[in-house]
Parts: sequence; structure tokens; C-alpha cells
Amino acid sequence: MPEVHFYVRWPSGQEERCYSPSTVILDHLEEGASYELGEFARRTRTALELASERVMARYGYECSSALDQLRTIQQRILAMSADERVRPVTVLGFDRHEPRDARRPSDVRRLEKPPAWPVIVVGGGQAGLAMSYFLKEVGVAHVVLESDRVAHSWRSKRWDTFCLVTPNWQCTLPGHPYDGPDPEGFMVKGEIVDYVERYAKKYDLPVHEGVRVESLSPGGEGGFVLETTRGRLLAEQVVVATGAYHVPFIPPSAAGFPEGVQHLHSESYRNPQSLPDGAVLVVGTGQSGVQIAEDLHLAGRQVHLAVGSAPRCARRYRGRDVTAWLDDMGYYDIPYDQHPDRDQVRDKTNHYVTGRDGGHDIDLRAFARQGMRLYGTLRDSVAGVARFADDLEANLDDADDVYRRINRSIDQFIDKRGIDAPPGEVYEAPWRPAEPALELDVSAAGITSVVWSIGFRSDFSWVRCPVQDERGHVRHDRGVTEVPGLYFLGLPWLHSWGSGRFFGVGRDAEHLLEAILAQRTQQAEAREQRDLQSAMRS
Ligand SMILES: Cc1cc2nc3c(=O)[nH]c(=O)nc-3n(C[C@H](O)[C@H](O)[C@H](O)COP(=O)(O)OP(=O)(O)OC[C@H]3O[C@@H](n4cnc5c(N)ncnc54)[C@H](O)[C@@H]3O)c2cc1C
Repeated sequence: MPEVHFYVRWPSGQEERCYSPSTVILDHLEEGASYELGEFARRTRTALELASERVMARYGYECSSALDQLRTIQQRILAMSADERVRPVTVLGFDRHEPRDARRPSDVRRLEKPPAWPVIVVGGGQAGLAMSYFLKEVGVAHVVLESDRVAHSWRSKRWDTFCLVTPNWQCTLPGHPYDGPDPEGFMVKGEIVDYVERYAKKYDLPVHEGVRVESLSPGGEGGFVLETTRGRLLAEQVVVATGAYHVPFIPPSAAGFPEGVQHLHSESYRNPQSLPDGAVLVVGTGQSGVQIAEDLHLAGRQVHLAVGSAPRCARRYRGRDVTAWLDDMGYYDIPYDQHPDRDQVRDKTNHYVTGRDGGHDIDLRAFARQGMRLYGTLRDSVAGVARFADDLEANLDDADDVYRRINRSIDQFIDKRGIDAPPGEVYEAPWRPAEPALELDVSAAGITSVVWSIGFRSDFSWVRCPVQDERGHVRHDRGVTEVPGLYFLGLPWLHSWGSGRFFGVGRDAEHLLEAILAQRTQQAEAREQRDLQSAMRS
């Protein structure tokens, strides 16, 4: 069945990509049409329920993704202010995909329900698959539950020209190192999805797609209860591998932009053509923000960029990719608690640089010379005027300082080891801001869309076990929580720099395997003890 993503703009101006497992949605919504909220709710309910029935007729179970989508729409409407409820919701467009059943044989894999699974892994991204690889290797029965499809985040939450920032040789999933022709290159989106999908197939990992875990709670005798869209499952141990980037952040100040300006988060941005004609304001200069700004700039769009405090690094220095030097210097092996910035490192924005077109530096000053308009951090937007902090110059200088500092540490390493390497170039700033631009009249500048690239929030509210602190951060020691048998994998800096990436997730999974096996031994001993006691009583 062909599936469809439909894009809507809510009364708040926020945009969202929604899902329908069938084209039936096209009979109920029209591209470009605006609907009063009640009407929109009625139309989407009819379409998504019909879509779910079609899945039921074909596969024998209702479509959890369609029903999840319906619930999300209903929740969005319920959460709206009185002011928002009188404004319409607009359907921006549709995106059809190849037939789902042609590429999802595992979707119909029977999900067995034994009394309790020894291990359930939640999430079918690289982290969940790496865990499954190790469990399979030692013969621990388990399933991997994936709410969408394997590699969902890579496939559905990245823009068209997305490519890795880390070089291919750093893709070291256990049992599945990068095997393509360009280890020094940077895989593009389709290649990344293929790399992850091939992993699941290569080892026939027991992944069940289309199964969302809605809650995870402590069960009896130390186990866990998982309420899923395919029914209740019990597990002795659970590994949560659902990534860290769950809730895209768009601030309330988005509402202060002029009516008609399209707002979208970096995870919904696809390409310049999908934005309305006109200039674009990109907010945020983490890895996503600068790469999206470059994508738009190269397509000839007038880009206005709100520059934040993210650091940057060179792509190549003294004849090699900077990551190769940092690897030799042991940077990627430093555990987070021994890192010089250990109190902040888990929350820090990554250094910006790109792997696009073989990889190069991202120099915002060079963009400015080519016509991109740079501002400081976006403070707010009032009556159609975006207002910025007076920190552009400081933010650019700070990013360059980090860039130079990393290069200097490479110089020191080369000197200390007596390595024969070509001389390095010293970066000289090619542009400096003149008068600080603190305000921007959005309409006068012809801005028709804003791409918010200011990050995400994690959401583990469905994990109803006492493992989160008051800020919602998971308390753990390299993924092992205080609740026996409950683990987290794939979080940024779970243990070291590579923990949230292709590079280090395998090492953490192997560490968790040891903890899982030790817990199994303890559980088996406790069971034996109980059996012995009841035998003695009878
Ligand atoms: C913009 C961006 C660029 C990045 N670039 C790089 C890079 O260049 N190199 C690199 O190594 N890393 C990079 N990363 C970091 C990292 O590799 C990715 O975030 C990667 O997707 C993390 O893999 P994961 O398996 O931990 O999580 P994910 O890939 O997010 O997988 C989690 C899976 O869990 C599923 N799921 C979520 N909730 C549930 C639930 N309740 N029930 C069932 N399933 C659920 C999701 O559908 C998803 O498929 C980047 C990240 C981002 C955001």
C-alpha cells in the first residue's frame, strides 16, 4: 500500500509532518486548503481510521502508526489556546512513498508472546541493532521493537542532501564495519539507510517493525511490562535504544512572526524547493543549522542566519581529516567523567563542519562575504520584527578560537611524536561584522520561512520506572540504571564521544551485554533459590 506524509501548518504557525499508511488521506484533504479545526479533526479521523482498516484487511492487525498519528492530532488540538482554536489549520502538501508492503517483509513477522522475553530491545536504529547483534551472538532470546521502520531517524528526519559529518571509517557497527569504496568519504542519506538496513538483514536480527512501546513499567518479580501497539509483552530485561532526539524544539516566540511565514524544524526540512519562494531565516548554527543554511545558500536563496554559540572545527588539517588526528590522539576514548568539560559535555552542541561534496570547513564569515546575512542569537520576535542579541562577533570569534585550539593541539601532538606532516594553514578571518544588526523586519526582508535548528528535547515519559532526575535526564552508569535489568543505549556521551554515534555505540552495547548476562545469572540463581524453597516447603 502506498503511504503518504502530509504537511500541515497549525494555527500557532508551527509545522508538522503527519503520516497516513494509505493514499485515502488524499480524498479527504486538499493541498493548500485551510480548514477550521473541527473540520480538520473530522477529516483526518475519517481518513486515518479508514487507512487503518485497510491495513487490517491486508495484514490482519490495525495500523498503529495511523492511530498514533490520529491521537497526536487530537492531542495537538486539545492543547491549543482559545486564541488558536479560532484560527484554521493549513495543509501544505503531500509526499507519497513507494508501497510499504513491497519493502517491509518483516512488518508481518509474527510477534510471539512467551510468558516473558529474556530481553526486549526498544528501538530499531543503529543502537538497538548493535545490542541485538551481541545478544544474538551469545544466544540470548530477544526481540527488537521498532515503532516505524529500521533506520527510521536517518530515513525520515534528515534533509535530502544530508550526509555524515563523521568519515565512513568511523562507521564501526559491531560485525558490520563500513564496507564501501570510500572510507575517507561521508555517506549520503540513502547510503546511511542502506548501511543500517543491511546490518539487520545480514544477521537476521529479530526486528519487529511497526510496534511502538507506549509504556514500560516494573512488573512482578523484577521483570518489566511493556504496553505496545501490538499488545502487552513481558520482559526480564529491557534495553531502551530510542535515540535522544525526540521532541523538536520551536520556541513560543515563533508566534511573533508575521502571519503566513512558514515555520519548520530542521528535522522536517527537506530541500530548498519545498520552501515557499523568498528569503529564509535559519535559526541556530549547530551542525544541522549551518548545513541547512549552506544547502539554501548554494541553491541561490537569500539566507538570514541567527548565529549561536556552537563551536567549529576544521575538516582537514596538516594533511589529514581532523577526526583521524583526534582518533590517534585518543580523544574518542576519553570517558565522559574524565573529560575536561565533564559537567557540560553531555549538553554541549557539536562542532560544526560538513561532509558535503567530499567534506569541507563551514566558515560563516565566508558565507557572509557571499551575501548571507548574519545576526547574533535570536532573542524573540515581536510584531513581525525579529530581535537578536548583540553577540554575533563574539560567537564567530569563539567558534574560531575553538577551531584554532583544536589545530594547535594537533600541532603539539605532531611535534611530540615527531610525525612528518605538511605544515598547517593559519586561519585568518576573511570578514568581520560591521554595525551589529539587532533587528530584522521579517516582511520587509522578504522572509517567507523560518527553519528552526535549535535542537531537540528527549522524551522518556513513557518509561515509568524511577530512573530520571527532575530535569528528565536518565540516571545511569554507562547505560546501566539503578533499576536492575533496565538499560539505555545510544545516548550522546553515554560513555564517550562516540556513544551516540556509529563509532562508539558498539562498545557500549558490548558493555551492556556483560551487565545483561550478569543479571541473567542473578535472576537464574534467585529462581533456583525460590524453587528450592518451595520444594522444601511441599
Ligand atoms: C542531524 C543529525 C546528524 C547526525 N550526524 C551524525 C554523523 O555524522 N555521524 C554519526 O555517527 N552520528 C550522527 N548523528 C548522531 C546519531 O548517529 C544519530 O542520531 C542516530 O540516529 C542515533 O541512533 P540510535 O539508534 O541511537 O537512535 P535512532 O536512530 O533515533 O533510533 C531510535 C529508533 O527508536 C524508534 N523508537 C522511538 N521510540 C520508540 C518506541 N516508544 N517504541 C518503539 N520504537 C521506538 C525510532 O523510530 C527509531 O527508529 C547525527 C544526529 C543528528 C540528529
